[in-house]
Amino acid sequence: MENCIFCKIIKKEIASNVVYEDAHTFAFLDNNPMSKGHTLVMPKKHFTNIFDMPEQEACAVMASIKQISIALKKSLHAEGINILQNNEKIAGQLVMHSHTHVIPRYQGDTVQIDHGPRMKLSSEDMNHIASTVKKAL
Ligand code: 5GP
Ligand code: ZN
Repeated sequence: MENCIFCKIIKKEIASNVVYEDAHTFAFLDNNPMSKGHTLVMPKKHFTNIFDMPEQEACAVMASIKQISIALKKSLHAEGINILQNNEKIAGQLVMHSHTHVIPRYQGDTVQIDHGPRMKLSSEDMNHIASTVKKAL
């Protein structure tokens, strides 16, 4: 898509530190990393986010995420990995080309993934939420 920074990176019109590429997926280092090896993995085709991405593309991206996670752990000696996807502006998505953050974790790193305080819901509310979601599937 025109004017999409990630499409331009995938087409190599803009330089990036590519770590992986196959028929469906592309992965490069985040240029403002949360930790050493912070990688962005995405479909080569332009989709905005999880809501418009076909299942087949999502599965291809997930398969690449798994391989890249193993490679980050092995090559950079990461002790763990956070996998994070921001979908829509409310959830913190800044670049509107679907992508997943793969964030290696190290002892004493400065990564902050703030999950915020948890809610306390009644069992009636929990049952209602579960049945509402179930009906939508
Ligand atoms: P979002 O908030 O959309 O999930 O995250 C977008 C990510 O893309 C950010 O972590 C940001 O550092 C990264 N990013 C934005 N522009 C560029 C770029 O031009 N090159 C690279 N390598 N990363 C980028
Ligand atoms: Zn794009």
